[in-house]
Amino acid sequence: MERENQIHQSVKGPHIKKGLLIINTGNGKGKTTAALGVLFRAWGRDMKVRMFQFLKHTTAHFGEHRAAKKLGIPIQAMGDGFTWRSKDLATTSALAVQQWENCKAAILSGEDDIIILDEFTYPLHYGWIPVVEVLEVLQQRRPLLHVIITGRYAPQELIDYADLVTEMQVVKHPYRDQGIRAQAGIEF
Ligand code: ATP
Ligand code: MG
Repeated sequence: MERENQIHQSVKGPHIKKGLLIINTGNGKGKTTAALGVLFRAWGRDMKVRMFQFLKHTTAHFGEHRAAKKLGIPIQAMGDGFTWRSKDLATTSALAVQQWENCKAAILSGEDDIIILDEFTYPLHYGWIPVVEVLEVLQQRRPLLHVIITGRYAPQELIDYADLVTEMQVVKHPYRDQGIRAQAGIEF
């Protein structure tokens, strides 16, 4: 009964429209693909959607890039394929800073309905881009623009400002538990 009341209330509640800051973080799989799911759903509603990817190689041509090209959704990757084994962090961080400039321009242009900043938490976590600057830019965006940020180790200041935060948790992972490497269509 208590629960029914709650559901009833939320359905009847004020109809507020707000551009959300959405964060998909945690160690489990699904952060990027959940963001792509929103992109797909919103695209179906003729909303203007785009995605910027950090760290992934600038020439990345994964399933999502191929699909986006067919659908006319802009996905722009800029990076040198950073992994935790990377040695030349000067290049990796410079590319991330450059990509952030592209994101800022898009966020402030007010042209899009949803912008995804994929793997953006890493440049923040490593201190290549100041979180305060990101918060300033997000606060200046037009009120109905949704922004989705993905990646592990989301900084607390960003979580505090966000409207929707999901932490993916690993229960089983084929690589971790069985040594099964990334497979086309599932991982890339
Ligand atoms: P996806 O793009 O499939 O939604 P993700 O964005 O949540 O995954 P990332 O942290 O970006 O995950 O990791 C990218 C790759 O690392 C994916 O191929 C994913 O399967 C793999 N991965 C994610 N979690 C784990 C884990 N716990 N152990 C091993 N590999 C993982
Ligand atoms: Mg990802």
